[in-house]
Amino acid sequence: MPELPEVEVKRRYLEGNSLYKPVIRVVVPDARVLDNVTPSSLGRELKRASFVAARRRGKYILLPTDNGRTLLVHFGMTGDIFFLAKGDKRPEWNRVEFHFDNGSCLHYTSKRVLGKIALFPTTDDNDIPDIARLGPEPLSRGFTFKRFQAIVSPRGSAIHSVLMNQELIAGIGNIYSDEITFQAGVRPDRKASSLSPERLRRVFDSMKRVLRRAIQAGANIDKYPDDFIIPHRKRGGRCPRCGGALVKKTIGERSSYFCPTCQN
Ligand SMILES: [Zn+2]
Repeated sequence: MPELPEVEVKRRYLEGNSLYKPVIRVVVPDARVLDNVTPSSLGRELKRASFVAARRRGKYILLPTDNGRTLLVHFGMTGDIFFLAKGDKRPEWNRVEFHFDNGSCLHYTSKRVLGKIALFPTTDDNDIPDIARLGPEPLSRGFTFKRFQAIVSPRGSAIHSVLMNQELIAGIGNIYSDEITFQAGVRPDRKASSLSPERLRRVFDSMKRVLRRAIQAGANIDKYPDDFIIPHRKRGGRCPRCGGALVKKTIGERSSYFCPTCQN
């Protein structure tokens, strides 16, 4: 599932190719991904409108338009979005197409139809319920260790589950939570409330570092640092630091991988 780094990379992509182009037509090959609109209302409300910005909150992309609306895009497990110039080959699992007046097009794809597209009559992100319920952005400058500590340290659940709770902190999922706790040397199943301020500080610092580093690498797993655990999160995976076997454990119904030697 795309998490903060993947979605941020997509946001930058859309910012570079999809703004200030009037939409002339919306085609919906599969309406199951539409959340609060019908194919015809989506087409009608976006007709002649242009996206004027590409923003991200948590795992969501927001595309406000010059006619006072915002398209909300969520990728779910298998969603993606592609910009196609005129004549480019169409992607697979295509669910919604936004055709621009110069012949280019945005294609929202989703193999398992778990993502969603919604349209809201506002350009204020906080008027959108999905966004209003989100916790702070982990990379925002205002998200200091003090704020992190105030959110995390009272929690009696595993640090893995706390990091993944979108209402507490936005954008982190299973994969990056594993990386953050690995880099911090903290077991993902440790109760958040049991972590000392020093250990919590290590989790906070590695949260910022891991997310920034992943975005810098274009969220491309082949370009991640050699000491990242993410490429080894699989059966038979070994710790990139000590070479020991990684342990897979279900924490809050999600599978977490960690190194029992390097994390405690
Ligand atoms: Zn290890």
